[in-house]
Amino acid sequence: TSTDTSNDEDSSRSMRDFLDEMRAENIREHLRYFTRLPHLAGTKQNLRLAEEIKEEWLEYGLDSVEMVPYDVLLSYPNTTQPNYISIVDHLGNQVFNTSLAEPVPEGYENISDIVPPYNAFSAQGQPVGDLVYVNYGRTEDFSQLEREMKINVTGKIVIVRYGKIFRGNKVKNAAFHGASGVVMFSDPADYCATGVQPYPDGWNLPGGGAQRGNVLNLNGAGDPLTPGYPAKEYTFRYRLEEGVGLPKIPVHPIGYHDAIHLLKNMGGPIPPNNWKGALNVSYRIGPGFTDTFQTQKVRMNIQTNNQVTRIHNVIGRVRGAVEPDRYVILGGHRDAWVFGGIDPVSGAAVVHEIVRSTGRLLRRGWRPRRTIVFASWDAEEFGLLGSTEWAEENAKVLQDRAVVYINADSAIEGMYTLRVDCTPSLHTLVYKVTKQMTGPIWSLRKSNQASGGFSPFRISKLGSGSDFEAYFIRLGIAAGRARYTKDKKTERYSSYPVYHSVYETFEVVDRFYDPSFQRLRAVAQVRGGLIFQLADSQLLPLDASQYADSLTKYAHSIAQLGQKHQDALITYGVSFDSLFSAVENFTTAASSFHERLKTLDRTDPLQVRMANDQLMYLERAFVDPLGLPGRPFYRHVIFAPSIHNKYAGESFPGIYDALFDIEHAANPRRAWEEVRRQISIATFTVHAAAMTLTPPA
Ligand code: GLU
Ligand code: CA
Ligand code: ZN
Ligand code: ZN
Repeated sequence: TSTDTSNDEDSSRSMRDFLDEMRAENIREHLRYFTRLPHLAGTKQNLRLAEEIKEEWLEYGLDSVEMVPYDVLLSYPNTTQPNYISIVDHLGNQVFNTSLAEPVPEGYENISDIVPPYNAFSAQGQPVGDLVYVNYGRTEDFSQLEREMKINVTGKIVIVRYGKIFRGNKVKNAAFHGASGVVMFSDPADYCATGVQPYPDGWNLPGGGAQRGNVLNLNGAGDPLTPGYPAKEYTFRYRLEEGVGLPKIPVHPIGYHDAIHLLKNMGGPIPPNNWKGALNVSYRIGPGFTDTFQTQKVRMNIQTNNQVTRIHNVIGRVRGAVEPDRYVILGGHRDAWVFGGIDPVSGAAVVHEIVRSTGRLLRRGWRPRRTIVFASWDAEEFGLLGSTEWAEENAKVLQDRAVVYINADSAIEGMYTLRVDCTPSLHTLVYKVTKQMTGPIWSLRKSNQASGGFSPFRISKLGSGSDFEAYFIRLGIAAGRARYTKDKKTERYSSYPVYHSVYETFEVVDRFYDPSFQRLRAVAQVRGGLIFQLADSQLLPLDASQYADSLTKYAHSIAQLGQKHQDALITYGVSFDSLFSAVENFTTAASSFHERLKTLDRTDPLQVRMANDQLMYLERAFVDPLGLPGRPFYRHVIFAPSIHNKYAGESFPGIYDALFDIEHAANPRRAWEEVRRQISIATFTVHAAAMTLTPPA
């Protein structure tokens, strides 16, 4: 009808204004301001910053902004007994000690409270032993070590290079194989790009730099002491020994200058070629040092303390004009290891500019159809704690009312192109929004595209390692994230070189990653554009048919994994047929649903609301209340963080994990029975999701 058309026109004019209002220069100013001091979770500086953000969001014009505190388990180095690693000779003399801090970059010499490199939640202790080099510490690295090289790490200190997978998985693997401690180092092969200088002359990691980071294996639990419930004052807390995901061995990170000293005299077998990094050492596997140094051992000295500490989320709201009980959430963390130039402030600065632009529209009389919630999360670096506790506290309301969660961690990790990870139902919207983007960087990317098909970037599935986890994987809320990224083909390093080091400053972004701030502006337009469309469209811009396409793709790839065991499939009567018919059923339901939408009476608010609810609750339908085996907070049947790498997403994770390494199963009959059970759970879930798309009556 004519009213709807004019509403749509108003909305798209407002969207244009909203995107045009976001300025590169403003994002630069937010970034500069938020990076002037360290903002470690649990510190007074980070509380101060939360208060400032609250005040500014109110000034920008949000309807309400509140601080939401929780008391969660954090972990800090002991200020009087520093953490370090020594090489000790046969008399127990320390012949080498690793550095206690990173050299502070110029201009930051007078800043106090720079936390030295450490691995949060490391166990305390002084293990002594021989070193074993375990490459990236991946599942496959330990299998190779055990099965091919016949090297046992029991009672050894493993030295592992950062990169490829989440560091918590490395520690879990090392502990599982019996290691008594873990040394993590950044190898130049992974943290220095060729032809680039170390910071401050370029954006590579200097030899004295090291990567901080937690080494938990929470599997979505949030605060280790209060799994399932918000960490309020009244909340029951488990004892430390019972905490979820806490490592039982000491872990410590070092830079490549220190790593050279630990690696250079190692003995034992020559490593496979793909285990060699870029340092001028042999990368021998060990255990222990060569002939002349055989009597030397390595000792870790780790005194890091776990401590229940108050953290603060900032939650801002814009009340929806038509459907105030439908929430579109934009959340990202505020806490940083040190200055957080990239992680998270490049993202937080973008959110700040989106909030400012939202406020401008509000002042001009605009109001979104649905409620928008802005969140500045605390303690992401300590295991996604702020976002998960808020999800726990608000679970009942969110499962009824949340439409979508868009994450806003680091907005840049490279200079090449946009990167989007999201739920399949957001694919169509992501393409629509990116088509509307403006700005020099974006025009360049568009014109670089070969003719035919607009796809200047790839959309991938969500993994984890940031604050969307509880919303997507636990609660089944449609979710997505967007940032600027590197060209995977040419740049081999993991994350970005200065990740979680003291060199993540304002300057690393201002001088190298985005001098014009056009990349960050592009990310602001994508994140903002998604939020705008989801909050203001009359019909939710979610696409069930895209979900059908992804399910089809994932079903084929999991079945293909299964086909590698033809004989076993027959012997144990395992078939993927039921899953395929469920996916077909879903595909039909999705396309009929979207057909019906075309003729929906858009002037009937109840009709519109019913259709929108079906779209909103589609993601919820993929949640299994029982969770995945051994991981009760990972409840999404289609997507979960990989058990081998928290950063990566796995599709049909239940089936995938049941099939993994099944050729080595101690009890094949049982193992294949579990595969059958997982296929049936996936089949049921896809059928159940399809049913939610069928006509209500
Ligand atoms: N983003 C942080 C990291 O990668 C925390 C991830 C997590 O605990 O899941 O270190
Ligand atoms: Ca909790
Ligand atoms: Zn981080
Ligand atoms: Zn982050």
